Amino acid sequence: MKYEIAEIFESINGEGMKAGELAVFIRFSGCNLNCRYCDTKWANDANASYTEMDEEEIIREVKQYHVKNITVTGGEPLFRKGMGKLLKRLLKEGFSVEIETNGSVSIREFTLISPNISYTMDYKLPGSGMEESMCVSNFSLLDKKDTIKFVVSSKEDLEHAYKITEQFSLAERCHVLLSPAFGEIEPKEIVDFMKERHWTEVRMQIQMHKVIWDVNQRGV
Ligand code: SF4
Repeated sequence: MKYEIAEIFESINGEGMKAGELAVFIRFSGCNLNCRYCDTKWANDANASYTEMDEEEIIREVKQYHVKNITVTGGEPLFRKGMGKLLKRLLKEGFSVEIETNGSVSIREFTLISPNISYTMDYKLPGSGMEESMCVSNFSLLDKKDTIKFVVSSKEDLEHAYKITEQFSLAERCHVLLSPAFGEIEPKEIVDFMKERHWTEVRMQIQMHKVIWDVNQRGV
């Protein structure tokens, strides 16, 4: 089986609960959504370039970095054929596996593979234009090692994130992150909202890689 890989690289996790830790990223090309503020459109377009790699080639490549954390990302990785098989192999090789998913794909079959995979799952707010695609049944499958990430682009998004967090008791179930959509809302506005609501169960997080490197740089 061949996988369509946009890039494999070593960097620090720029967001999520492992932010700041070294990780090897396996970025799959292609996405089933089209968020208004997408910063990886280059990997998602129908004619985006990718490298076809089989399982052995991927394992060989990631092993050369001697890093324990693997972040499986995209695009959207979970609708790729053969993903379950690759995840099993990564776990068998002893890697600590985190999946970044856009929240539109059921994670049920992947949670059955192993309880040790952690998820950083987006919930697409109205500002993304993609909220109707969210798979809310995923919420009940998340636990303390997992994270829901709201990418916030406006005050309305913040209000909505608050409502969804309360409605599904998300902060009791998993970590909840508020991440400003780059260039769309001042991080300060998010902090002000948290203070106003005494919203102590969530964290604001700025995408570290966009602070350290150029915002459009790939492979970081
Ligand atoms: S889900 Fe992520 S990769 Fe897909 S369009 Fe939205 S922001 Fe881009």
